[in-house]
Amino acid sequence: MPVDRKLLTERFYVYDIPAWSCPTCGRGHLALLDNTLPLMRPSASFRKLPLENYVEIEQDYGVFSLIAECSYKECKEAFAVSGRYYTEMGVDDRNFEVSLTVCDPVAITPPIQPIKFPPQCPDNVKDQFISAFAIMWQDANAALNRVRTALELLLDHFGVPRKGVSPDKKGGRKLVRLNLHRRIERLAQTKKYVADVIPALLAVKYLGNDGTHDTSANLDDLFDALDVSESLLARLFDPNHITTEQITSEILKSKGRRKRKNT
Ligand SMILES: [Zn+2]
Repeated sequence: MPVDRKLLTERFYVYDIPAWSCPTCGRGHLALLDNTLPLMRPSASFRKLPLENYVEIEQDYGVFSLIAECSYKECKEAFAVSGRYYTEMGVDDRNFEVSLTVCDPVAITPPIQPIKFPPQCPDNVKDQFISAFAIMWQDANAALNRVRTALELLLDHFGVPRKGVSPDKKGGRKLVRLNLHRRIERLAQTKKYVADVIPALLAVKYLGNDGTHDTSANLDDLFDALDVSESLLARLFDPNHITTEQITSEILKSKGRRKRKNT
């Protein structure tokens, strides 16, 4: 499933948190805990305004935190959500003009997971992605750096060395560190069965490099890297994964229904 970019970028009214999927059970979604109120703290500049003065609505902004819980009754995982809020004018259910508190999340603990991982995905690779999810709203570039590290660990998993032999100036040979691009090329040479994921690995590497060296990447760039990563991890570690291109090819080949093992 591609990253739900709308769900992950929309701001929300304080009592109406988005239905972020629970990473613990994968069945429920985050919901505001019953009988608890979000904590709101206006900015220092707003608190210093004299009460008797007329206050512009735009001046009321600050920070919030709230506790959410998974909606699935067998799970009930707890989450801390925090970030910034601001106020704006809107209308309520009866069409009366009211001031509304809009929340802009910065962190969720434990982090929600925009993509899914096949069970066979190495834990250390998955952990790097989860680190990226934890900081994605704070620093998309740092999150892309975590994704880049996940690629290095993925290549470790396939036995691609981190160092290689290279000619030195005296005509001899020396051991040098292989950069990520060279390691991906090594994977293509040594593990032919993963050849179809090489373009995807290179694409994620380019985005990881942008986040690491350029720092001009944004959330959409991170979501691009996650979409490509989810697909390539499924190809590598999910034996039942099939792409729409493969399905299309099989239908065209048989000029009708695909042949399946049990049909
Ligand atoms: Zn849950």
